[in-house]
Amino acid sequence: MNKVNLENVVRDAYNYARSFENDGNVASYIPELFKADRDALGVCIVANNGKIYKYGDCETRFTMQSISKVVSLILALQTEGKEKVFSKVGVEPTGDAFNSLVRLETHTHIPLNPMINAGAIAVAGVLDGRFPFSDFLSLLRRICGRDDILLNERVYLSEKASGMKNRAMAYMMANEGVIEKDVEQVLDVYFKMCSVDVTAVDMAMLGSVLANDGVNIFTGERIIDSEHALIAKTLMVTCGMYDGSGEFAIRVGVPAKSGVGGGIMCCVENNFGIAVYGPSLDAKGNSVWGLKILEYLSKELNLHYFSGSKIKEYF
Ligand code: GLN
Repeated sequence: MNKVNLENVVRDAYNYARSFENDGNVASYIPELFKADRDALGVCIVANNGKIYKYGDCETRFTMQSISKVVSLILALQTEGKEKVFSKVGVEPTGDAFNSLVRLETHTHIPLNPMINAGAIAVAGVLDGRFPFSDFLSLLRRICGRDDILLNERVYLSEKASGMKNRAMAYMMANEGVIEKDVEQVLDVYFKMCSVDVTAVDMAMLGSVLANDGVNIFTGERIIDSEHALIAKTLMVTCGMYDGSGEFAIRVGVPAKSGVGGGIMCCVENNFGIAVYGPSLDAKGNSVWGLKILEYLSKELNLHYFSGSKIKEYF
């Protein structure tokens, strides 16, 4: 079979997405996020042949937002262990919006999974180091292979000032003993982790490390334990796109995590880390054009886990 030229595929995926009307909205509930260019769009693939393919706005910085939930979970698993982490957060999908607090009123009061706000705040509450946010930054920098990944101070302050619903959840969890530390400090760590500036290339690197069992393909360094990578990817499949996870699994069929900053990070086992950036979001908080790009790539390259055909060979 002829090999496909990935450089052309990413360009075609980008143009395919752009052929649709941009009918989404940039997130405004965190005021600072609303300043993003609603028509920005970028796609990046870090492939196992050691090449990085990109098209569009791949150097533009955007905040990780919920994509950080994957990294904070991995950090918590690394530093605190599986048992402790999963005594404070479950592993089941919710079917509710990412910022819903209704399920916190169940008998266990433990949030359903770490990929939604309540769950990630519970995970932030488990992190026990003296400087959990710098631990998070160090891990992220190692994963992305870039030392100058930084906090976006303006987004952080904007989230901190506007995050009343997250605050409500955190206090509910503290009331039930799910969070055992100073609630404002836990929230501060959570807001900071959401507010780290990255690019589509960084997020494709994160996807690549996950796709390769926790190993950086460029250096050969193991950064994430195999078991932790497996847990993260499985939760990305079931919960990574919030209450859009089921539909995404049908349409695209790869582990993915989105954020309201407009990023979606995906991985394709032993092949690709993929990231898209497009800040215009659908009602569920997922990038409208980003989803189109991923649908295109999935079809074009046979990425769906049940596509029935092998992933196309590429160069
Ligand atoms: N920081 C955002 C929040 O707490 C993250 C949500 C998201 O990306 N879905 O609401």
